[in-house]
Amino acid sequence: MDIKSLDHDELKKLLSDYGEPAYREKQLFEWMHARHVSDYDKMTDLSKKFRERLKQEQPLTVLNAVERYISDLDGTRKYLFALSDDNLVESVLMKYKHGNSVCISSQVGCRMGCRFCASTLDGLVRNLKPSEMLEQIYAIERDTGERVSNVVVMGTGEPLDNYDNLIRFYKLLTDKKGLNISGRNVTVSTCGIVPEIYRLADEHLTLTLALSLHAVTDEKRRTIMPIANEYTIDELKKACIYYGEQTGRRISLEYSLIAGVNDSALDADKLGRIAHEIGAHINLIPVNPVKERDYRRGNRASIEAFKNKLEKNANNVTIRREMGQDINASCGQLRHRRLSKTDYD
Ligand code: SAH
Repeated sequence: MDIKSLDHDELKKLLSDYGEPAYREKQLFEWMHARHVSDYDKMTDLSKKFRERLKQEQPLTVLNAVERYISDLDGTRKYLFALSDDNLVESVLMKYKHGNSVCISSQVGCRMGCRFCASTLDGLVRNLKPSEMLEQIYAIERDTGERVSNVVVMGTGEPLDNYDNLIRFYKLLTDKKGLNISGRNVTVSTCGIVPEIYRLADEHLTLTLALSLHAVTDEKRRTIMPIANEYTIDELKKACIYYGEQTGRRISLEYSLIAGVNDSALDADKLGRIAHEIGAHINLIPVNPVKERDYRRGNRASIEAFKNKLEKNANNVTIRREMGQDINASCGQLRHRRLSKTDYD
């Protein structure tokens, strides 16, 4: 674990091993997690000698943007960040009336293989460390000078496939002495790894869990999401109900609408029933076409019709507002484009 991924007790231990006084922990934690400075030299209340030692022995995880796009339409910012081993991750800043929201990646690539998703085209390279998840947010705050109030773990990667680092990240993110983001303002999206949903429920956190459902029968779900070969929709429903019971939080069902695949009236009926059973909110996402795949979105009218059908059945539904459409701000496309370039140019 790098120094920026340590919790208070671990940091205290490290500093006492260095023979530093106990109050150093508070100073260092604040420099890293509240003021998020980008190098040790800026930590002016530490002695020069100690800063030099830290530089040598405890490299500070910092992300640098190698590409950045700002939408003229709505101010959305899309970043491609380089990690210290030159791997790339992407993150998005979205500006809403209620505050700034950042969508972060949890892994370099992804091994879940969902058919419609660009993040998985190049496979999984490695898990992100807690510090590397935090730094996506810190680097964006450094860049904009504005505070981030909401975090969604919906970028590249499957967060529950990187479980321990995700929990550590969440605890540091919501730490009163760090960025102090409210747990309720954190959303974690999963393709549905059932045992990890139970494990997460037992942590009793206040985060919102979003489940990527995308199909209402096991048969169809298996054709677009390989994870459906491991867990059935019935098993998912039970896990979601348990999650709600343990945390008191309502689940959000993510449903990417793909023309001719999962957008019939019957699909809407079944989706509505599943949402009722688990007391979930439904978030419809018109599928984003990915060049390598032939999935298409329906027209606006068909999307509205699907939504109306759900609402008639008293479901709670939103259509995800699309942001940054002029900057290609979706689901692993930046990184994939850059990887393809270096491979083939
Ligand atoms: N692995 C997690 C989080 C990352 S994806 C998960 O599966 O939930 C975030 C959301 O975007 C998921 O609901 C995912 O299914 C959806 N998504 C991925 N590619 C998409 C695309 N091309 N169009 C629309 N939604 C997509």
